[in-house]
This record gives sequence, C-alpha cells and structure tokens, in this order.
Amino acid sequence: MARVFVITGPSGVGKGTLIRRLRESHPELRLSVSATTRPVREGEEHGRDYWFLDEDEFTRRIDEGDFVEHAEYAGRRYGTLREELDRHLGEGAPVVLEIEVQGARQIRETMPEAVQVFVVPPSFEVLRQRLEGRGTDGADTIARRLEVSRTELESQHQFDHRIINDELEKTVAELEAIVSSQLSAT
Ligand code: ADP
Ligand code: 5GP
Repeated sequence: MARVFVITGPSGVGKGTLIRRLRESHPELRLSVSATTRPVREGEEHGRDYWFLDEDEFTRRIDEGDFVEHAEYAGRRYGTLREELDRHLGEGAPVVLEIEVQGARQIRETMPEAVQVFVVPPSFEVLRQRLEGRGTDGADTIARRLEVSRTELESQHQFDHRIINDELEKTVAELEAIVSSQLSAT
C-alpha cells in the first residue's frame, strides 16, 4: 500500500514545481517539511519551507534517531524528520517527500513500499538554465549543484519511475497518473 511518495532528482529539475501542481489536484497529499542547515532564502519561512537547524542541533537530532533519512548535499545537511512523516501518516494522509538522491536511496531501503519518482532534466544545459532562471542561488552554488547532478543522474535507473521534465503540462500529467493509480489502489 503506497502512502509515501518520493520525488527526487537534481536541484532545478522542477521537483518543487511538479509537487505544487500535483497537490492542486490531490489536496489530500501532505508535504513533509524537511530539516536543513542551509541558510534561509528570501521569502522562506521556518516550519513552512524547512525547519532551519544549526549544525549542532542537526547532529543532536541525528544522534537521537529523529531522522528517517538524512544526507549531506553540496556542503549542507538535509533530512526528513520522523515526527513529520508519522504525524501525516498517523492522520491517514498520503505524504510526499521532496528529497535528493542519497536520501531517496535510504528510503528505498527502509520503506520499500514507498513509490519513488526520479525527475530527469531534458538536458544538462536545460538544467543549468533552470537553476540560473530560478534566481535563488549564486554562481558558485549553481556550479556546485550542477556538478553534483552528474553523479545523481547516473543513478536514475535505480528508481521505479523516471519522468523527463521537458514540457511541464505533460510531466504533470505523467506524475499525476503515477500517483492517482497508487492512491486509487489503496
Ligand atoms: P527543484 O525543486 O527540482 O529544485 P524547481 O521546481 O524550483 O526545481 O524548478 C526550477 C526552475 O525551473 C523554476 O524556475 C521552475 O519554474 C522551472 N521549471 C520547472 N519545470 C519546468 C518545465 N517543465 N519547463 C520550464 N521550466 C520549468
Ligand atoms: P534546496 O537547498 O534547493 O532547498 O534543496 C537542495 C536539495 O536538497 C534538493 O535536491 C532537495 O530536494 C533536497 N532536499 C530537501 N529536503 C531534503 C531532505 O529532507 N532530505 C534529503 N535527503 N534531501 C532533501
């Protein structure tokens, strides 16, 4: 029974955009708010976009077993809090995790019933354009994320579902089809 959906893939590929669209047609889907040590971006809110923790707090919470998965990504730490996931599942709601590839692999080990979707960019150049066009990251951060994406893309075949995010409406429909079939099967 699939109650957990993992959307993964390189930064800038469109995961957040796709999840926003998906939740418009499936308002019952809850988004798990992750914890991170990266700096707050303009417009982001603690508890809504992320739980922003400092390094010590993040480490303490790892030691206490508070994460279902966590990873270091481009020099910062990110993780899914167990309490966040359990709260939604406990209320009977399906949950979406928007996480990077190492975390998605951990979820595959610990929750093999979770449905995993890897979002693939049409090309490396398009990925670069999206990261630049989003305007949230400086040149160094973008370069680092693009570098990481090369390794991430190598593991795309390890995932149940792969969708190429070229034309947004088409990709939304593909994701929607995967999620709807799982939700109606439960
Ligand atoms: P991620 O959450 O994977 O880091 P975002 O959802 O923030 O990626 O998308 C990165 C940028 O690419 C955003 O500016 C978004 O509007 C844009 N984008 C997403 N999907 C598409 C698409 N299919 N075609 C063109 N631009 C897109
Ligand atoms: P950003 O800094 O752009 O918000 O996120 C950077 C990367 O970290 C993205 O690929 C995003 O999906 C991923 N990420 C966000 N939250 C988590 C999480 O809880 N765990 C893991 N492993 N990755 C996450």
